[in-house]
Amino acid sequence: RSKEINRNTYEFFNPVMSVQASERLEVAQELHKALDRNEFVLVYQPQLHFESGQITGVEALVRWQHPRRGMVSPVEFIPLAEETGMIVPIGEWVLRTACRQNKAWQDAGYGPMRVAVNLSAYQFKQSNIVQKVDEILQETGLKPEYLELEITESISMQNADYVIETLDQLNRLGIQISIDDFGTGYSSLSYLRDFPIHRLKIDRSFVNDITASDGDAVIAASIIAMARSLNLEVIAEGVETEKQFEFLLSKGCNEMQGYFISKPLPAEAITDRLLINKITATGHTFMQNN
Ligand code: C2E
Ligand code: MG
Ligand code: MG
Ligand code: MG
Repeated sequence: RSKEINRNTYEFFNPVMSVQASERLEVAQELHKALDRNEFVLVYQPQLHFESGQITGVEALVRWQHPRRGMVSPVEFIPLAEETGMIVPIGEWVLRTACRQNKAWQDAGYGPMRVAVNLSAYQFKQSNIVQKVDEILQETGLKPEYLELEITESISMQNADYVIETLDQLNRLGIQISIDDFGTGYSSLSYLRDFPIHRLKIDRSFVNDITASDGDAVIAASIIAMARSLNLEVIAEGVETEKQFEFLLSKGCNEMQGYFISKPLPAEAITDRLLINKITATGHTFMQNN
């Protein structure tokens, strides 16, 4: 019996666990100060439209420039930001910064193009989310048609009436909605019929092995076919090779995003890339100029 107690005691005071817990607490406290300290930055990844050969959108992706830890990936801090509720003010900063940047590009004569912003399910659940989006559009002067919100299938875990009503209201603002990481969630497909959405983003896990695995090729091709017959736009993410590019093109995918086109870049580097849009307008294709 005493042996049992000892073992439990040991597990309770598992040193690895307590290190992780105090580390998490520390990061949570730092996350709280990071906004005031101006430690977040956005990078933008171009989205190439096949038919026009132009960059028709960019996805805004957040980075945390930590004074000691260096550049921290969103994969490492977004989950904690969601658990602590910090995702609300951080997400608002991302939305405002991305809208302001897109307006600045347009004012400088580039584009026009969409900016896509990731919206976590926790943000979507906030009862004032539509009002927030509206406020930020007014404040930055960006036309709603140039803003896209990326949501994931996980929002369908929320109250269905709330989800549909909120998506309807966002639609009425005039913005676009896309389903990010499509195919990785565990939700029913019926929301494709019920939710007012514009675009599916094929998750990069299906794009990865498109040219190596018959299974992934069939899934990617089926998502494209389904999107098109539902009158939805479809974009592939994580396109890294010419073979993947060619495959998606042949299946009728509308747009693509991935290292093959460009890595996510700071705003200034995007400005250089956007010159390509002006060049393509005179007849050259994107790929020839790349
Ligand atoms: P996501 O929205 O699916 O974004 C795509 C991720 O794939 C990005 O990772 C991007 O850098 C990466 N990627 C793009 N092209 C390629 C490629 O060709 N190959 C590979 N291997 N990867 C590629 P990142 O920037 O690390 O972001 C990871 C995730 O963090 C995002 O996935 C998104 O879910 C989340 N995230 C990023 N920014 C925000 C934000 O502002 N708010 C919220 N709520 N989540 C965000
Ligand atoms: Mg995304
Ligand atoms: Mg994605
Ligand atoms: Mg993804």
